[in-house]
Amino acid sequence: MTNLSTDWAQAWINNCAAAAHEHREELIELDRVIGDSDHGENVDRGFRAVVGAVTDETTADGPTVAEVLKLTAKTLMSTVGGASGPLLGTAFLRAAKAAGTGDLDAPTTASIIEAALEGITTRGKAAEGEKTMVDAWAPAARAARHAADAGHNPAEVLRAAAEAAAEGAEATVPMVATKGRASYLGERSVGHKDPGAASTALFIAAAADAAETAGQET
Ligand code: ADP
Ligand code: MG
Repeated sequence: MTNLSTDWAQAWINNCAAAAHEHREELIELDRVIGDSDHGENVDRGFRAVVGAVTDETTADGPTVAEVLKLTAKTLMSTVGGASGPLLGTAFLRAAKAAGTGDLDAPTTASIIEAALEGITTRGKAAEGEKTMVDAWAPAARAARHAADAGHNPAEVLRAAAEAAAEGAEATVPMVATKGRASYLGERSVGHKDPGAASTALFIAAAADAAETAGQET
């Protein structure tokens, strides 16, 4: 069983940046329909800055997973505007705390997803069913814990979380938004996927991809 190391954390944020860039227009379009068209721009700019910050700071003396996640949090908070910057920043900050001091085993991998969710709900006060990124993070956290409890390895824990996040994002389509900018539309938000839930599914898939790639190298 391969624990998740600093190489994984760096691959995760690189994959997030690549996914945000690749899906930029799609996320802008989702946010155009029920928001203000900036979500794709926000996360693309944010994760590009994160890659720069991590590359600059991590050349010297091998940072821990937690240090990479903490730097990610700080950079997202300072570069991503809107609602999603502070929310994702808090998610990564809580994940960093939950990561502890070393590599991540399967239960700790589940803990970082749970901690991210907790950070987002503490900060944004949204519950499931309100058509926000919580609708992707919450099922992801449950699936991650379930997989860890069943004895799966960290890469499998993250793949289970990614699949649940994608389903959760899809499930926001028929919801009425009651938090965030989309809530101004009320019933008119029905029929459209929430952009923050869509990007969350991409970011958790990015974590699973990074873990699977790391697993192949060892
Ligand atoms: P803004 O809404 O300020 O333009 P973004 O477009 O970057 O910011 O992000 C919008 C996303 O943020 C939404 O799709 C939703 O997933 C998420 N969001 C907004 N408010 C909340 C909240 N209170 N709790 C959780 N997520 C939220
Ligand atoms: Mg927006």
